[in-house]
Amino acid sequence: MAETKENIVMFPFMAQGHIIPFLALAFQLEKTNKYTITFVNTKKNINKLRSSLPPNSSFNLVEIPFDSSDHNLPPDTENTDSIPYNLVPILIEATLSFKPHFRKLVSGLVSEQNGQKKPLCIITGIFFGWCAEIAHELGVFHALFIAGGGFGFACYYSMWMNLPHKNTDSDEFLLPDFPEASRIHVTQLTDYLRVADGSDCFSVSMQKLLTLWRNVDGILVNTVEELDKIGLMYFRREICPQVWPIGPLLLSTGSKDRAGKQLGISSPVCKNWLDTKPCSSVLYVSFGSQNTIAPSQMMELALALEASGKDFIWVVRPPSGFDINSEFKANEWLPEGFEERIKLSRKGLVVHNWAPQVDILSHESVSAFLSHCGWNSVLESLSHGVPIMGWPMAAEQFYNVKLLEEEIGVCVEVARGKICEVKHEEVVAKIELVMNETEKGKEMKRKACEAKEIIKNAIKDEKNYKGSSTKAMDEFFNAAFTMRESTLG
Ligand code: UDP
Repeated sequence: MAETKENIVMFPFMAQGHIIPFLALAFQLEKTNKYTITFVNTKKNINKLRSSLPPNSSFNLVEIPFDSSDHNLPPDTENTDSIPYNLVPILIEATLSFKPHFRKLVSGLVSEQNGQKKPLCIITGIFFGWCAEIAHELGVFHALFIAGGGFGFACYYSMWMNLPHKNTDSDEFLLPDFPEASRIHVTQLTDYLRVADGSDCFSVSMQKLLTLWRNVDGILVNTVEELDKIGLMYFRREICPQVWPIGPLLLSTGSKDRAGKQLGISSPVCKNWLDTKPCSSVLYVSFGSQNTIAPSQMMELALALEASGKDFIWVVRPPSGFDINSEFKANEWLPEGFEERIKLSRKGLVVHNWAPQVDILSHESVSAFLSHCGWNSVLESLSHGVPIMGWPMAAEQFYNVKLLEEEIGVCVEVARGKICEVKHEEVVAKIELVMNETEKGKEMKRKACEAKEIIKNAIKDEKNYKGSSTKAMDEFFNAAFTMRESTLG
């Protein structure tokens, strides 16, 4: 008789940047044929997921009740992609209302009799540490899954828990529970952290939610041990001894963006263009799925790309202050005649809205990536040995750049923040530093290639050799099975 599969409950926070890595993890586990996945979320997110899953998917999709109007949010707010940035803290706080529903849901799964085993584990998003209490009441193993990097999230955690910038008049400060190297500048604070003083609603809420990380059985991180030691050590020392770096977990978004919109260019067109370019000659520029730069910065960047004389692919979206989903107005936001000149000279591809990023980064013509350093972009770049020019704008991106620049050696920072005033001459100088055969440029390329090998090695799963990420995943399951056995007495 076929062995019953183990059930894994997954519950990410309602943001595309969180749901997508959870899906990558879910697909990886589903592929092993050993697990069924129960994916929990609010109705709208579940519906969206249902329409995007492959027809043969065996996921169990479960809705958890949520009415955003009960929480001073606009009606039908069920994902950060549908609200302005300043409402995100309210959405995070509102998720505490899931508690009774989640308890009921897991109790139901635990007591189900029809041949089902009780869930082997519950894996939740970073704001759902409170699920540990429910899991333990019901004798189920519980882990958090951090979709970002170890260093970035360790800084983020330390920053929220200690608010070190409040105790200094200086522009630079140390994170109290970090090694000396982790000096932070005030310009590396996110908008929320800059105004946090420990008594405002968001500080109170974040400190409450992050404190709950200490109750979990372990933490899965979408990173690679060898590249991210400082952050992982921090987690093991300060938060929870069981930390499993299982990355990179990447999910190709295919021909549509995260909101389901078509690509601004097809993969074959992109590939054909890249095929005409010499090896290691093209700069790829993209700021992820949500971030945009100021109109003045867009102009400077366009001038820099043209002045550098390098070939480039640039994914453009309306600049900050304009609706990101509105039509792109080249005549307003780019230098006069820019797009036509670039098209005629074949020096660049200006892609509106969304490009097939992974296909681009995997092409041998690509030399460097000018990126906001969102963690998926970082992993995708390093997986293909592409050095990075960092322009962090939000969240832990500032600390990702720090890791990439100071520890891994694959990045130079070009600019910082959404509201910065970088001049095109400075951008050109950085492009030349990275893409010309300078000592620094060659060193960055060498280190990026080393990172690529480290990543390749980490995910190896061979008869006589398992890489660090494969081993970490095995250890995670060992811990979950050990807990299961102990609860069976
Ligand atoms: N992405 C893409 N095409 C684009 C922009 C982004 O395919 O034009 C994908 C990219 O490959 C990555 C994700 O969107 O997987 C962006 O995630 P990341 O963590 O880098 O940044 P975020 O969008 O969450 O800020």
